[in-house]
Amino acid sequence: MAVLLPFLPMVYGDLDVIFQQTPCMLSAYNVPMQIVNFPELRYAKVGASGICPHCGDKSYFQPVSAYTESAQGSEPLRCITAARCESCKKFILVIGARYPHQTPEWRLEAIYPLGTPNDTVPPEVEEVASDVSASFKEALRCHFIKSYRASVVMCRRAIQSSAVSLKANGGRLIAQIDDLSKSGKIT
Ligand SMILES: [Zn+2]
Repeated sequence: MAVLLPFLPMVYGDLDVIFQQTPCMLSAYNVPMQIVNFPELRYAKVGASGICPHCGDKSYFQPVSAYTESAQGSEPLRCITAARCESCKKFILVIGARYPHQTPEWRLEAIYPLGTPNDTVPPEVEEVASDVSASFKEALRCHFIKSYRASVVMCRRAIQSSAVSLKANGGRLIAQIDDLSKSGKIT
């Protein structure tokens, strides 16, 4: 089972990539997506560019129809635009928002559909370390829906599953990691 050891950096590495994705780009969609403003159209509609929630291609989303909602109370103005993926031709809904006193550019508030989480782990992990794989897949799904604490818990579980598989001594994870380090199974 020592064969599990090399997979830990893969798991960590994948997580690093995910956490490096800037969540500020869009609150409701966990992949990079940017809003496209059209000053030449007096900001009457918005488009988007990024990863398509339908086909997964990096694409541009051409606006086809838009509706601007008036500001109500403390709510911002919203520009609700139906846009079409240039790759697969399917539609998404782009929601832009801004407050009346702000500059006219719309900021991205939401994209629909949300798409599906990418919980792919390397096949060699799935084949050899199914416990680690299952826990890390769940961590990725938790991260997608912004359940960050749950994601951390499942990452910890994946790491502990690896330690147990490596026959680490100790009851707590930190002791198990120390034991694996002392025995040279991890460096
Ligand atoms: Zn598409």
